[in-house]
Amino acid sequence: MEKTLIFFDLEWNNVPNIPFPACQNEIYEIGAVKCNASLEVEDTIRILIKPKIYKKLCSRVKKMSGITDEDLEQGITFKQAIKKLQEWAEGTDNIWCSWASEDIRQLKRNYFYFCKKNELDWMTYYLDVQAYFMNSSTTKPTNKQPSLDSACQLLNIEFDKTTLHTALEDARLAYYIFKSLYKGELLESYVFHTSKIRLKAIYINSLSHESINKRKMRTSCPLCGKFTVKTSKWRFSNSERSFVCYSTCNSCDEKFRHRIVVRMDTFSRVSYKSSVSICNGKKNK
Ligand SMILES: [Zn+2]
Repeated sequence: MEKTLIFFDLEWNNVPNIPFPACQNEIYEIGAVKCNASLEVEDTIRILIKPKIYKKLCSRVKKMSGITDEDLEQGITFKQAIKKLQEWAEGTDNIWCSWASEDIRQLKRNYFYFCKKNELDWMTYYLDVQAYFMNSSTTKPTNKQPSLDSACQLLNIEFDKTTLHTALEDARLAYYIFKSLYKGELLESYVFHTSKIRLKAIYINSLSHESINKRKMRTSCPLCGKFTVKTSKWRFSNSERSFVCYSTCNSCDEKFRHRIVVRMDTFSRVSYKSSVSICNGKKNK
């Protein structure tokens, strides 16, 4: 191992059911610990980001992180934050490590949303400390995806509960966990290219989403093919992950229930999958 290891952690604001599902989790804090091949800490960084989509932190996040909206007012933009992080990291062949791969997925989403780039070209290699812990630790947790603090407890790593969920402290804990388990063995099997991390398509849940094509939301009769008259508005059903509405065909004198699943992939391509059933129970595709 000659590469520089960077342990990082991100904090994001999580606002459910919002009109911007493309970036549902807006990152507001980045913390990172840089260390050399002997795992000695060389530098740390903490960056606050001024939110652009969700100007106010949700109360749960505020309570957990201790960060206020006023703190974030002092922050920089996501783009500037990435530039700062890149300059601080020096070089593109460092190994970036975080507790569970969710951080890198959220980073990818935010990077795509704000910087319009699909790959983290400056963050080439990635190691999941949680996976490393699950494979290397002799004391195994019962949970398949243990939390950072539960891993610290199992390894007798002391931590301050009040600073948990602040990016730099969480990055530090991930570093301590890795350090306590690392015995100088080869890391190759744990390190992979960040382009291998694929993001799942997301479900669009609001008709006001900028990418929705209203023409695709017109309802037609499965019997005669004519457009039908909607008798209810499209409503998003969380349990079906789709939009639902009712309509009638004046020619056939039948009532229908329509469902459309609208998904957007990481390249912002939107797909529509619709199905319709006659309201008396018979189903048609
Ligand atoms: Zn009809």
